Amino acid sequence: MQCVFCDIVNKKSPTSVIFENDDFLAFSPIKQISKGHTLLISKEHTENLFDINDEALAKIAVLSKKLAAELVKKHSATGVNILHASGKDAQQSVPHFHIHLVPRYPNDGLDLWLKNKL
Ligand SMILES: [Zn+2]
Repeated sequence: MQCVFCDIVNKKSPTSVIFENDDFLAFSPIKQISKGHTLLISKEHTENLFDINDEALAKIAVLSKKLAAELVKKHSATGVNILHASGKDAQQSVPHFHIHLVPRYPNDGLDLWLKNKL
């Protein structure tokens, strides 16, 4: 099965690695939506929130906190958004579990908050 994130895990695609351990990898996506925008993925291929195991989910949540704090400090950001999508209609673009860490800056022009359309 072809998976662009598994290719990154298996070093078949070049990428800028931010963090790596036995279970997880964090890298800079090609399309940065803010300075320091980072994708955190599980090395094991799981599609989304519905099939990642609880232990891996707990670990990646704690790792998200750690990396978010490091990114904010490294880039002198003033905040962070942590985004995740599970499923096509939730706008999941790559079917391999991933979390976006998006450092935020004063007047950065991004608006990632939910808007009420109902
Ligand atoms: Zn994969």
